Amino acid sequence: MENRRNFLKTTATAAIALALNSFKTKEGLQIRVEDQKVNKPIVISTWNFGVQANGAAWTILKNQGRALDAVEAGVKIPEGDASERSVGYGGRPDRDGKVTLDSCIMDEFSNIGSVAALEHIKHPVSVARAVMEKTPHVMLVGDGALQFALSQGFEKENLLVADSEKEWKEWLKTSEYLPKANIENHDTIGMIALDAHGNLSGACTTSGMAFKMHGRVGDSPIIGAGLYVDNEVGAATATGHGEEVIRIVGCHLVVELMRQGKTPQEACEEAVARIVKLTHNRNKNLNDIQVGFIALNKKGAYGAYCIQRGFNFAVNDDSGNKLVNSDYFVK
Ligand code: ASP
Repeated sequence: MENRRNFLKTTATAAIALALNSFKTKEGLQIRVEDQKVNKPIVISTWNFGVQANGAAWTILKNQGRALDAVEAGVKIPEGDASERSVGYGGRPDRDGKVTLDSCIMDEFSNIGSVAALEHIKHPVSVARAVMEKTPHVMLVGDGALQFALSQGFEKENLLVADSEKEWKEWLKTSEYLPKANIENHDTIGMIALDAHGNLSGACTTSGMAFKMHGRVGDSPIIGAGLYVDNEVGAATATGHGEEVIRIVGCHLVVELMRQGKTPQEACEEAVARIVKLTHNRNKNLNDIQVGFIALNKKGAYGAYCIQRGFNFAVNDDSGNKLVNSDYFVK
């Protein structure tokens, strides 16, 4: 009898704990997930340079730091690397020879900040974070973004390195603007992380398509397109042809699909399938397009999918930091 009473008591306690899997903080509703089933902390990010970027993020995550701080620190690594031709300092210029940067950031409370077509600032992700934390707005562009950055103490720098300038001058000879899929193994860095407290954040940063029209903005600074985080569900980020990602509001779609019960892998596959379908409907050639998504859910499960072979991403959790080849649609 005593055993049965204990059993009932334990079962009732478990039921109450399950029913109470959400709680309120002053910032809003938080979901508590059964701890033992969660793979945390974990950080994932796009392309080869994700490995080094993850390393910087991991230093923060393993010390119980906040996912937001981790993703900012992580993407700053390729942003600050002059040899990376597609992100931050050293990024390829637009067709007028100007390096214009796009970036956004999103935290566990759905705070968002973004900058687009920002010139002369090495770390656009940190300006995006300042927009998020220090202004009543969510997005600043062009000269307005630059003026804001300078007012916050960011240093004005020349971001066009000699090698990028040489490539641009070479490109000027034909001036043919034809963005190609996977010309080389690095584009945008998108990074999403789940910290030891079970909170998600993400950041995304790029110099965009090489030799783009001046003023062109891709998906990377657009919340919902190049990045989305919902602390109840999961997070996603994208790389590749931004126009195609914007067309389907890609990362919001991936997160909503996870909300409906899809795994991160299934959600990425369905978002890619949506792009494939629209490409056919619009009589465009799928071979000209590359898009890759990565996604992470609240339990630390992740997935990725892309259109063309060649996309990879880096995963860092307790088991180490590794590069994974993404599965792809065109076989
Ligand atoms: N998504 C970026 C853009 O469209 C570029 C890329 O990831 O390759 O600007």
